[in-house]
Amino acid sequence: MIVERLKIEGFRNYKSSEALFSDNINVIIGGNAQGKTNLIEAVYYLTCGRSFRARSDKELINFDCDGAKIEAQIFSGERSQTITAELSKLRKKRLIVNGSKLKTASELSGRLTAVLFCPDDLTIIRSSSMYRRRLMDNCLSQLRPKYAAALSEYRRLYEQKSRILKDKDPSMAVILDEYSQRMCEVSAVLISFRAKFAKILAEKAKEIHREFSGGNEELDIFYKTVKTIDDPMKKPSELMPCLLEHQLSHRQAEIDSCRCLSGAHKDDLEIFINGTDAKSFASQGQTRTAAISLKMAEREIHFEDRGEYPVLLLDDVLSELDAKRQDFILNRISSGQVLITCCEDQSISAKTGGKLITIDSGKVLG
Ligand code: ATP
Ligand code: MG
Repeated sequence: MIVERLKIEGFRNYKSSEALFSDNINVIIGGNAQGKTNLIEAVYYLTCGRSFRARSDKELINFDCDGAKIEAQIFSGERSQTITAELSKLRKKRLIVNGSKLKTASELSGRLTAVLFCPDDLTIIRSSSMYRRRLMDNCLSQLRPKYAAALSEYRRLYEQKSRILKDKDPSMAVILDEYSQRMCEVSAVLISFRAKFAKILAEKAKEIHREFSGGNEELDIFYKTVKTIDDPMKKPSELMPCLLEHQLSHRQAEIDSCRCLSGAHKDDLEIFINGTDAKSFASQGQTRTAAISLKMAEREIHFEDRGEYPVLLLDDVLSELDAKRQDFILNRISSGQVLITCCEDQSISAKTGGKLITIDSGKVLG
């Protein structure tokens, strides 16, 4: 999977710019606030039709423009393809692949695949469960269109049900139960996918972490979901009774607290290093090693599934790591395309031997 060319107009601090990438390592350099992360964000947007950091698409449109356009020419599955996203302050966004307009963002699934590793991810082990769910969601959404569609429906249901709960309108009781029922159905789909994904992720990350720690550490990952589910590997139809039971037992608590308390949105990955809960006890170094192992495992999962490596987006993360950890990542990425951003750190540029792309005030200088 290669992004050959990226054109961006009216996106973040870019008015109009174009970048040509090499098939291997690309080092994107520039001072602070020049637009390095924005460039990574533009590439990432085309994988799933969302930003990894903005709350809404409107934030992505340049302050002085009414709309933005991101267009990438990619090489995947032995052919060139064009993916375009058009964002507007006034209209709904348009996503276009090879000239055909997509009906939903979930149809982008599998077109351009990427694994993003950013400074936030260095704390994925110790931070809130949101980061670990995001890891599962990002990877599965890119590889499984059905998952992408289910996740986007779940997010919509969650928002609408939360609004109904906050409104506290008794006449909405029937509708509330309809939402809860549908959230159970969609949760069952998400949980079934996540359980299988977590099992493979655990195996791969364990192997990588063991190698990375020189055989000194064992990383174990377990998928944690709704309490009433005894075996999340079951089919969605078999998970349904357990989800309905949990939902029913939390119905009154949801009404009292005005919050959704039951469903796949509370899932997590429990992580242990040498049998100890990493969330509470991992050291800085262990946390970083485990985070890298997870990201590298994610990349391997893409490769096994698709037969080609996803684009690896390393935003500002290499410079945060010591030489040993930098080398571990760089040795593992001998194939596949990589976009690395860093703040004019010559040592990283020299170490990777990649193509240098300089960014200055929202312009790609080449
Ligand atoms: P750093 O090295 O500090 O991470 P960076 O080069 O990665 O810097 P970016 O995050 O890409 O910086 O942001 C570059 C600039 O883009 C910031 O100054 C930010 O304020 C600006 N910016 C963000 N959104 C918009 C927008 N919608 N319109 C115009 N400018 C924006
Ligand atoms: Mg940045």
